[in-house]
Amino acid sequence: MTIFKSLLNLLLQSNCPLCQRNTSSNFCQYCTKQLQSRHLKDSSHLWQQPSPVFSWGIYGGTLKRAIAAMKYENQPQIAHALGQWLGETWLLKSPQKDKQLVVVPIPLHKSKQKQRGYNQAALIAEGFCQTTGLKLQRHGLERPKETQAQFGLSASEREKNLVDAFVVGQEFRRRPPNAPVLLMDDIYTTGATAKSAVYTLRQCGIAVIGLAAVATTVKDR
Ligand SMILES: [Zn+2]
Repeated sequence: MTIFKSLLNLLLQSNCPLCQRNTSSNFCQYCTKQLQSRHLKDSSHLWQQPSPVFSWGIYGGTLKRAIAAMKYENQPQIAHALGQWLGETWLLKSPQKDKQLVVVPIPLHKSKQKQRGYNQAALIAEGFCQTTGLKLQRHGLERPKETQAQFGLSASEREKNLVDAFVVGQEFRRRPPNAPVLLMDDIYTTGATAKSAVYTLRQCGIAVIGLAAVATTVKDR
């Protein structure tokens, strides 16, 4: 029995995706603690019109490392775990309690998604919806245009780069959602992406209440 138990434990153990230590959870204890230190006390500090943002944490340190691993090191399970954390915080501190919402991830362009193998925002949204019970519409938005990487561009260049980046997805074109949309992304920075996505949905008469992100680089507005 004891041998069986320790064998089972061994099988359930995996490596922490951030430091390779053995762990039976998503991250090892050490990295969990480091990640939790990036958790915002007030996730709604950017929940203001015209583009309200809800964020789990402040970008940097181990959270930056986790997001990089999730995007560039083929570690999609990180997205799921962070989405669940975002969902737990939403349940506790949502500025829109008890409201029926449809969650729509910010899409990647097809070629980028093919290269990466997954869209991290969609996986975050999956974890988020599993935890909150909110409805998920994976293809509420599509991204037909291949845009230049936002990194290194100025705020106005980012906005220009993203004009017409999105179109409303087929599902929504066929049947518009009967609840407002909550957009979901991994990081919120200048807001250019969110602005473009919100604009696209609103053009089609679809209400958007805001965007939820795992991390933001914005401390104050
Ligand atoms: Zn670790």
